[in-house]
Amino acid sequence: EALNKILDIKGSIRVFCRVRPFLLTDKRRIHEPISTGSEKIVIQLAGIRKEFELDKVFLQQASQDDVFVEVEPILKSALDGHNVCVFAYGQTGTGKTFTMDGTNEKPGILPRALKELFNQASLNNSRSLTFSMSMLEVYMGNLRDLLVPKSSCRAYGALTQCNLNIQTDSKGLVEIEGLTDVPIPDFATARWWYTKGRRVRATSWTSVNEASSRSHCLTRITVYRRGDASEAKVEVSKLWMVDLGGSERLLKTGATGLTLDEGRAINLSLSALGDVIAALRKKRSYVPFRNSKLTQILKDSLGDRSKVLMLVLVSPCEEDTAETICSLSFAKRAR
Ligand code: ADP
Ligand code: MG
Repeated sequence: EALNKILDIKGSIRVFCRVRPFLLTDKRRIHEPISTGSEKIVIQLAGIRKEFELDKVFLQQASQDDVFVEVEPILKSALDGHNVCVFAYGQTGTGKTFTMDGTNEKPGILPRALKELFNQASLNNSRSLTFSMSMLEVYMGNLRDLLVPKSSCRAYGALTQCNLNIQTDSKGLVEIEGLTDVPIPDFATARWWYTKGRRVRATSWTSVNEASSRSHCLTRITVYRRGDASEAKVEVSKLWMVDLGGSERLLKTGATGLTLDEGRAINLSLSALGDVIAALRKKRSYVPFRNSKLTQILKDSLGDRSKVLMLVLVSPCEEDTAETICSLSFAKRAR
């Protein structure tokens, strides 16, 4: 509660940056630029020095634990009735999926969040907490349910079959028509569905090289909260965890044809997301939710009582410096 008060005072949008470690596949040129304190990152490019202030910076050596410790309080505010959106933003290969999903040995935010929700639910006797989960993918403006059997919509050639519609009801609540929403009574069930969703996402892409970096992957945990188990009144809040499509610009990749369209779709939706967050931060009365499917989906979860965490993932490599500056500039706008 105390932390929520602090968040309210400082505003409800947080921006963290994480620099991934060098990989064996990187050209080992040390990226001298990234020197930093825990809330600042300094980039040097062609003699120009750029400094970015953030709420938190995680350097190469930061572990999944280190990251989760800082993210956890924001996630937990979903249990107090806030809508929460956590985004992983960055160029392809900077660690968005590693940070959100992680590996079996090094689980990321999402599996840890699931575990923690059930911990909290079991600790808390004064109120009753229950959860449900949905997973979907947004690809070139099409919405796909990740929790339905793969056979019912295997290829994007048959995309219309799995394209879901977004509706807004009279109370302004967003409804994604036909999206599977499974009850998750315990962690084991949650993990089973989560693993299934990840598998559906991964296997549908085998024929389209790298294309999964061109889609957004959204996981929604709905939290149902009752004063006590017998009470009829239920408060509902949503926790979204979003692995965004790669933010790299089109020119550099020299893309053509389908890839060019994919890149355009991603760039448009990322800039629409940036516009929405900037409008929210400035407390503008008009927030341009309608400009992309991504922001339409999140419309009722990005607003007054919402917490937003933008995780900006960047590369440590010198050759990526221009992209790194772009990503940090996006972050600066949000903050
Ligand atoms: P993205 O989803 O942004 O395209 P990935 O999460 O797939 O990027 O990461 C690209 C590669 O870098 C993967 O092999 C991943 O395991 C590795 N990687 C990313 N971040 C880290 C990190 N913090 N520690 C160790 N390996 C990482
Ligand atoms: Mg990824």
